[in-house]
Amino acid sequence: MGALGEGWIRNFVDGGFVDPDPQHSFDKSDPATGRVFARVHEADAALVDRAVGSARRALDAGWSHTPVSERAELLRRTADRIAERFEEFVAAEVADTGKPITQARELDVARAVANFRTFADVVAAAGQESYITDLADGRRALNYAVRKPLGVVAVIVPWNLPLLLLTWKVAPALACGNAVVVKPSEETPSTATLLAEVLQEVGLPAGIYNVVHGFGNGSAGEYVTTHPGIDGVTFTGSTATGSRVMKAVAPQVRPVSFELGGKNAAVVFDDADVDEVLSGLTRSVFANTGQVCLCTERVYVQRTIFHEIASGLVERAQRLRLGAPADSETTTGPLISQSHRDKVLSYFALAEQTGAKVLTGGNIPDLGAALNGGSWIEPTLWTGLSNADRAVREEIFGPVAALIPFDTEAEAIGLANDTDYGLAASVWTNDLRRGHRVAQTMRVGISWINTWFTRELRSPFGGVGLSGIGREGGESSLHFYTEPTNVCVQL
Ligand code: NAD
Repeated sequence: MGALGEGWIRNFVDGGFVDPDPQHSFDKSDPATGRVFARVHEADAALVDRAVGSARRALDAGWSHTPVSERAELLRRTADRIAERFEEFVAAEVADTGKPITQARELDVARAVANFRTFADVVAAAGQESYITDLADGRRALNYAVRKPLGVVAVIVPWNLPLLLLTWKVAPALACGNAVVVKPSEETPSTATLLAEVLQEVGLPAGIYNVVHGFGNGSAGEYVTTHPGIDGVTFTGSTATGSRVMKAVAPQVRPVSFELGGKNAAVVFDDADVDEVLSGLTRSVFANTGQVCLCTERVYVQRTIFHEIASGLVERAQRLRLGAPADSETTTGPLISQSHRDKVLSYFALAEQTGAKVLTGGNIPDLGAALNGGSWIEPTLWTGLSNADRAVREEIFGPVAALIPFDTEAEAIGLANDTDYGLAASVWTNDLRRGHRVAQTMRVGISWINTWFTRELRSPFGGVGLSGIGREGGESSLHFYTEPTNVCVQL
């Protein structure tokens, strides 16, 4: 039975799909309509144990020693096969998330293909570190580091960009010769499962890619992170869960890579190109219904153009088209779930209680009988809040931003950096020197000037503070997914 047949989303362990157990399963519904369309088999501790055991055996059977060129070739075949089955991945991602089909095509699945291609190139080009050491007695030693796979890597990912974020980790992990046990979000189990089929088709050995479905505590997430056979954990998700995962792996002292939440700032100076700013902010606040870790939730605007930017952004927010994912005119989908919408609405209420003026949005829209069962929410903009307010300090993860005026560059830097998070920032200005100056001062992992979300997959990606630990991307990924053994030779 294939990945997504007969209304079941299955686990994939030791090279095969596992027969589902109706006693251990949960519903998967469509966030756009609220309708249940599949059951997901929840992996128990025994199944997770089988997955980890099979991963270890497969590594020992030789995968970790496969020539790099072969692994790179397998990654390229995977990219090609995803490209061939592109529309199946798009359909699965849209069903799980309710996101507009155009976005699933242009971003989510396209980036999955790019992730495999990029890491095939990166690993094929990677060198090894070596140094000649001059010793005190005039002799010399040669040091070289041999990079070996980390081993069995737990890959835990969220629901907002499911396939994109999964392949961002799986591609470099496999490129470096690791085996993975993947725990997708309970909200988005489909594309990780479909990827298992593709990896089988391109000839990845059994046991190297495993998928176990379920939740966090008392479920697959906890079983994976506490399993003694795991050699490292790469996690993308909320800061609160990251902290829990850190505690779970602490007794065994395993390396972690954490890509966590954000409360990202945009800083708009009055010399910026207003049209460019408005297009950029419309994307950075509302893309994926605000459910991107990099989305802007704090917009600091120089007072001289504050009203122009605020009214322009309101106008653009009101032009966004909420609607059926399959409609190519739809720009904005629902939130992922009713419970996430409850959380976002609680921040709407809190913001209004603390003095927010709602410029647009703030409510649940009426989209008609076919869609009203979904978890829809209006794109929303506030003024009247300050950095002291919880709605400006805590990550909301919805289509909403607070607009706050500033007067000077120093004040803008202070406001933007006044956060416990530190993922991304964007600076809008036509003053070249000011752009670089401010972008470098941002206490974040990624700082953009006059753009947002433009990504180079070989560059380091990650956050500081509550936004994460470590960097992935290009060489940084190779470093996380390998362990060096340094050899010192007396010459
Ligand atoms: P989440 O933390 O609730 O869940 C993430 C994953 O962790 C899911 O697969 C979940 O089942 C699992 N999980 C939950 N509890 C666990 C536990 N105790 N042990 C092991 N696994 C557990 O996050 P979410 O709601 O799915 O995603 C949204 C969050 O992800 C936001 O905070 C967002 O900023 C963040 N995010 C960060 C990045 C980044 O690159 N920095 C990218 C995307 C999303």
